[in-house]
Amino acid sequence: MTGYPFADRPVLNYVDGAFVEGESWFDNVNPVDGSVAGRVSQASRDLVDRAVAAGRAALKGPWGKMSQAERCKLLVRIAEGIEARFDEFAAAEIADTGKSLHQARTIDIPRGAANFRAFAALAEARAMPSFRTDLPDGRSAINYAIARPLGVVAIVSPWNLPLLLMTWKVAPALACGNVVVVKPSEETPSTATLLGEVMDAAGVPPGVFNLVHGFGAESTGEWLTANPDIDAITFTGESATGGAIMRVAAAGVKPVSFELGGKNAALVFADCDFDEAVAGTVRSVFSNCGQVCLCTERIYVERPIFDRFVAALAERARTLTVGDPWSGADMGPLISHGHREKVLSYYALAREEGATVVAGGGVPELGGALAGGAFVEPTILTGLGPDARCVREEIFGPVCHIAPFDSEDEAIELANDTDYGLAAAIWTRDVGRAHRVAAEMETGIVWVNEWFLRDLRTPFGGMKLSGIGREGGEHSLGFYSEPTNICVKL
Ligand code: NAD
Repeated sequence: MTGYPFADRPVLNYVDGAFVEGESWFDNVNPVDGSVAGRVSQASRDLVDRAVAAGRAALKGPWGKMSQAERCKLLVRIAEGIEARFDEFAAAEIADTGKSLHQARTIDIPRGAANFRAFAALAEARAMPSFRTDLPDGRSAINYAIARPLGVVAIVSPWNLPLLLMTWKVAPALACGNVVVVKPSEETPSTATLLGEVMDAAGVPPGVFNLVHGFGAESTGEWLTANPDIDAITFTGESATGGAIMRVAAAGVKPVSFELGGKNAALVFADCDFDEAVAGTVRSVFSNCGQVCLCTERIYVERPIFDRFVAALAERARTLTVGDPWSGADMGPLISHGHREKVLSYYALAREEGATVVAGGGVPELGGALAGGAFVEPTILTGLGPDARCVREEIFGPVCHIAPFDSEDEAIELANDTDYGLAAAIWTRDVGRAHRVAAEMETGIVWVNEWFLRDLRTPFGGMKLSGIGREGGEHSLGFYSEPTNICVKL
């Protein structure tokens, strides 16, 4: 493993401006070879409570009095701090996840820094509405709204894009003047801890950014989300976990923002630019080993090009290299052996359900240390009906199912026939159809002739089981602040 920053020091919690040990330890396992990369200190319930209390106290300290402009300058310093330690962040992300070097260097770490710059700029430029009110009885007033922080925001984040998805919430929360207590995934504790070091060096006041490590249910995650003194919860992860957190949050009627699972469709029309559609779909199925909430797992192709498209995608899947992320392989391992069991169980289920396995479907033969890694083959399935579990359930691996369609209406119906509603991709050269079909997608995000092109100012989130609310741009500033309207008689 190359340059893992926590190879010879433990991964610690960061509470009230200090790196502290919790009550026990757990191993951080490298999914590339199954080796133990480092030791992680698990926060006790008491430490979680202390983190929340430190946040509450910080709201009353210098942080609470800091001007918007000063706060935004501090956020830019944090972005610079990440950039100054870019290689360490990339090495930490790769050691925790096994993701490809290319993905870590071009997406995860740059986006981690970009989140701070983007939300600093958005918060500084934020305008709140004002209205002059003239009543028939002659009274007049000016109404204007101010934005106040929510307070202590609990952030629970997943393992697939660890720094990117955590900072996507930390940056706007801080930009709006909140303090945060972050619980990163137990699978990926390292970049969150490096971020704590960056915060420390940038001069973020104690208690503003707190970090607690541990697991979910009956552990750090649940202790944090159940703490009565937090003011809001923002969560990214599985839909079932969102449900569990919502039940806990209900007692205190806390505001929640949930970015949850997906079972995203791509619609490929016969008039598309074939090569672009194939290349884009390969990216959308196999990026990050299929472990992006936005990844495509269902592909519907117009019948005249169905066979050709399946053959082209299968050809591309077979040529993807799977192996050590540091070697430049296209795909690394899955996040863990536990997750590999889940993905392989779907590969087996697909066969039981009658699928044709067009590519992959198993475990690649890798020698040496990689034999201990959590690798699976990129896999393409066909032949399943709309009710098959492999077509309905989120697998979260490098796998897709391809089915044909005969009309635009049928394509729309198939795409929307799901409990999820996160993202869709449409491949067509017909502009009218692109707009028509896009407007019919029951998803929070639609790409036309693209996938994963992100502008941080746009609304991001899902419908149905894929989430509650939107973040991004104004939507983030909206969630992470409370407007108060002030009405002044003129
Ligand atoms: P997960 O739900 O298992 O875990 C996410 C986080 O929640 C972890 O930090 C975990 O420790 C914590 N957690 C688990 N149970 C908890 C509980 N009862 N109370 C409090 N915290 C708890 O998700 P994951 O496996 O880490 O991530 C993969 C999932 O995330 C996929 O379903 C994927 O689609 C989804 N995801 C969604 C988006 C999005 O923006 N919509 C983005 C990335 C990932």
